[in-house]
Amino acid sequence: MTKRDYYEILGVTRNASDAELKKAYRQMALKFHPDKNPNNKEAEDKFKEAAEAYEVLSDADKRKRYDQFGHDGLKNGGGGGFSGGGMNMEDIFSHFGDIFGGAFGGGGFSGGQQRGGRRVNRGTNLRVKVRLTLEEINTGVEKKIKVNKYISCTYCKGSGAEGGSAYNTCSTCRGTGQVTRVTNTFLGQMQTSSTCPTCSGEGQIIQHKCVHCAGNGVIKGEDVISIDIPAGVSDGIQLSVNGKGNAAARGGVPGDLIIQIEEAPHDNLHREGNNLLYDLYISFPDASLGSSVEIPTLEGKARIKIEPGTQGGKMLRLKGKGLPSINSYGKGDLLVTINVWTPRNLNRQEKEMLEKLQEADNFKPQPGARDKGFFDRMREYFQ
Ligand SMILES: [Zn+2]
Ligand SMILES: [Zn+2]
Repeated sequence: MTKRDYYEILGVTRNASDAELKKAYRQMALKFHPDKNPNNKEAEDKFKEAAEAYEVLSDADKRKRYDQFGHDGLKNGGGGGFSGGGMNMEDIFSHFGDIFGGAFGGGGFSGGQQRGGRRVNRGTNLRVKVRLTLEEINTGVEKKIKVNKYISCTYCKGSGAEGGSAYNTCSTCRGTGQVTRVTNTFLGQMQTSSTCPTCSGEGQIIQHKCVHCAGNGVIKGEDVISIDIPAGVSDGIQLSVNGKGNAAARGGVPGDLIIQIEEAPHDNLHREGNNLLYDLYISFPDASLGSSVEIPTLEGKARIKIEPGTQGGKMLRLKGKGLPSINSYGKGDLLVTINVWTPRNLNRQEKEMLEKLQEADNFKPQPGARDKGFFDRMREYFQ
């Protein structure tokens, strides 16, 4: 993208004075300010463009290089670290105080950042791990958990003040929580605000601190919290419960309780996304003659039919016997892989029977007659 001429952007002549530049930029900034043009990308671009132009032209050294070499003069060679890649909104607003004094702070513009006002204390978030079985994940579950955390002080009811009423307005900031310093510079008056050091921004000071909580308004305690965990969660998922974290100092906003889900391994079933996998072993006679066998599911045992002549490696799909999805309707499947169990430690009689079968043509593998090959099974599983 080719950049527009900085003088053109601000609508001034090439020999504009510093005062003329400042006036032009001020007009541009007021016209295209994001508070006046909400959700207007074009205005935002113009706003940024003007800020960039002013940033360069108000700096004598940068202006000289720009006059001599144009935009190329600002690319390398340092000098203030201006990259030419545009300024972000925070940079722009942070310069407003320098350029306009208190004009913007008091003019009803938010400037995109928090300014002024008392600080509200916020409690820290609390993290707990909750271990769930696949059965619990399948249905969703309500868990009551006991947590050690900061709770509101029971003696001063969280105020931090002994007796309840002993608060004084901070004399340093007169209750605003902010201190403002005005310094004179050659550009005019410069105004900077910062958090009041006397009251840490709260605007009030406790006369007599509660001895139980040392004026903090919070003490160590215990809480039993009941949480509804939706069906279909998975290992590592975090759920957040608003306002159930640590209490905040002196009546502020409590933090959140963040629950991290841990999945307990299941004895028989293996989870893969919303599907469940089960490795079934059947005897060679069952595979050959057909049978009916029990398999575990998350809702109790189920019976499945083994067709005569079933090959090892066959996969059965039990639709909807998997886990529900946390975001949508529908359930995963239970995929049963059939393995044929090869007997070990045969006695003599068994050995003799098998030795007879070993020679029979009918007992020799016929790979072409398999139900499904390995790749077919994988395709079915990943579909
Ligand atoms: Zn207390
Ligand atoms: Zn103060």
